[in-house]
Formats: sequence, structure tokens, C-alpha cells
Amino acid sequence: MSLNIPLSVPNLTLDILENIKECIETGWVSTGGRFITEFENKIAEYVGVEEAVGVQSGTAGLHMSYRVLGVEAGDEVIVPTVTFIATVNPVTYLGAHPIFIDCDDTLNMDLDKLEEFLETQCEFTERGLKNKKSNRLIKVLCVVHIFGNPIDMERVMGIAEKYNLKVVEDAAESLGSYYVDGKYKGRYTGTIGHVGVYSFNANKILTTGGGGMIVSNDISLLEKARFLSVQAKTDPLYYKHDEIGYNYRLTNVAAAFGTSQIDQIERFINSKIKNYNLYKEEIANIEGLDLLPFNNRTRPNYWFYSVIVDKEKYGIDRDELLSGLNEVGIQARPLWGLMSDQKPFKDEIAYKVEKARYYVDNIINIPCSTSLTEEQLFKVIEKLKEFKE
Ligand SMILES: *Cc1c(COP(=O)(O)O)cnc(C)c1O
Repeated sequence: MSLNIPLSVPNLTLDILENIKECIETGWVSTGGRFITEFENKIAEYVGVEEAVGVQSGTAGLHMSYRVLGVEAGDEVIVPTVTFIATVNPVTYLGAHPIFIDCDDTLNMDLDKLEEFLETQCEFTERGLKNKKSNRLIKVLCVVHIFGNPIDMERVMGIAEKYNLKVVEDAAESLGSYYVDGKYKGRYTGTIGHVGVYSFNANKILTTGGGGMIVSNDISLLEKARFLSVQAKTDPLYYKHDEIGYNYRLTNVAAAFGTSQIDQIERFINSKIKNYNLYKEEIANIEGLDLLPFNNRTRPNYWFYSVIVDKEKYGIDRDELLSGLNEVGIQARPLWGLMSDQKPFKDEIAYKVEKARYYVDNIINIPCSTSLTEEQLFKVIEKLKEFKE
């Protein structure tokens, strides 16, 4: 019998129906309507910024971010090799190229290697920071808070300032994570770089079906993004356009989900914390398995749980455990394939990718839905114990 325990599924409540009913009755189902502004305001308030711009996906949000920060065809954008491909694809939509940096033991971008790359491989020219090898300009650095684990933004911003880079925070997975210590104490991930992006895809901490949000402390960047997301219309009556825009605006129907979901985010995070701690206690007793910690100077949103499988001690390797779990109906998955190994990016520059190789081969992500019951969680533990040889 299949246990049927999913990896990460949405946690939706029926109060959304009230909102959807209003969308239907008023006819506001597309890219205008009150839920869009309400949801934008609630997100802005929650993460402590003045304004936010709703878009149709995190990918669209990242595309707009790179664009408003001035990435042009032939430029390069620094990104991590460990991330979901949506961080990287929009770089290429603009005709620019990614440069891939290795991860460290937190799975986030290795900031030592980032600094080393900038120091040894780049130089300042009249046109800006240049990659000596490719002769291309680098204007933007994108960091990702992998699995909700906040990267050290204090250090990121220091490096960015030194090299005159604009910072995009891909906070698609980390809505609700914040710093409890240091310069950015109390600040949420996504709100520290020049632009930050959240995603509301179905497997994220909260969902609108599909959707995303752009935040920034520079209101002019947000205005530009909002303008571009509605086809860059300069004159709403006569339909004049002076620039090429996109159809990227969040819909009222999606926002109708969001405005209910955001009210529950702390409940969702508390559930993630509780389950993480239960897993931690139990996995500590299974030799050969290690639950990856989150950065301790932060309050993460604990979005995804990563377990490292030590084949020597556990008896079977990661892939055997992965198929074993999936066979009994426990959905588990490996880390994403490295970006620097993906076919479309094979010829792009990858700087000293080493650690990422180890993690890509040895990590599994285990069920982490906010609706995961204790009974289901202990089933997962039972199987993790059973499979050990
Ligand atoms: C989910 C995700 C995105 C993209 O979000 P969509 O809303 O699915 O387009 C971008 N980056 C990372 C790291 C993600 O996990």
C-alpha cells in the first residue's frame, strides 16, 4: 500500500472561495482588481518595505529585476550553480550570460569563491566591472536563499559595494526568513539587496497557483517594473508604447489566493519549524544520515529539509534511498542538477565548482508540507530506519 506522502503541497483554506466569488461577481479576473493591491500591500507590510509589485511568476519577477537593474545583451550576471533554473533562464532572456559560482556547506553561494572570482578574474574599466577572460561587463549579482536558508547578506552587500554590483535577491523560497543578529537584524530576506523576488508557485511556502512579487527600497525601480509588466503602455487611452514591455502582471484571481494565504504565513512557518525539529531529533539517531542545519543567526522559514546520505555509514547510497522512499509512496527528490551542467549553459563560465558536486550526489529532500501530520512524519522516519543496512 502506498503511503502517499507528498514532498511539498499547498495548504489552502476554503475562505479563498469568498474571494474567488467576488472576482466572478465583479468580473475582475485579469490583471486589474482590488485583490492585487491588497496582496501587494500585505506582502510589503509583512516584509517591512514600502511597496511591492505583483507579477505572474517568480521567473517573471527575476526577468524584470535583471532588466530594471540594467542587464543588457552581452553582459554577464553572477549566479549560483546550486539553484532552480528559474534564477538563470531570465538572464538569457535578456541576451546576457550567467557566471556560475560554487556553493558552500550551507548550499548557498560560496562567498569566498565569489570574492576570489571578482578579485582574480575581473577588472574595473571605464565601462564598468569587466570579466578579463570574456571581456564582458558584470553589473548584477544574484544570490539565492536556498531552501529558505538566508545567505549572509551583510557580506554579500559588502562585496557588491566593493565591486560596484547591483544585487538581486532570489527570495523565491525564503519568504518569511529574516535575520536575528548583525547589521540586518529584523530585516527579511528579499528586502536587503537592490531588488528582491518572491514566488508563489504551488510548492512554495504560500501559493497563488502561480505568481510572484518584486520588492525594492528604490521605488523608481518598482515603478519601472510595474510599467514594463503591463506592456509598457505610456498612454492608456491611445495605447502608446515607447518601450518593449511584457504581459507579466499578477491576476486578481491569483491575488485572491494570496491575500488569504499571507494571513497564514506564520502558522505555516511554525508548522515547518515543528516538523524540522521532530525530524532533527529522530534523524540524529540514524547513523549515516544528517539533517542539514539552517544558519543560526537567522529565523529561517524552514521551507525545504535536506538530508545528507553517507553511503559508508548508512549502507545504501542516496539514489537507492531515493527510489526506496518513492516506491513506498514517500515523495523525495535529489538536489537540482547543477546549473553549470545544464545543456543550455554548458559553455558558460563556471568558477571552481567542487562542493556542489558532492551535495548534488548526496542530498535528498524529504516531505516538508505544512500540512504534514506527525503520523506521516513518523512513517518517513520509520522508513529511513528500515532502509538502513
Ligand atoms: C520557485 C523558484 C523560482 C521561480 O519561481 P516561479 O514562480 O516558479 O517562476 C526562482 N528561483 C528559485 C530559487 C525558486 O525556487
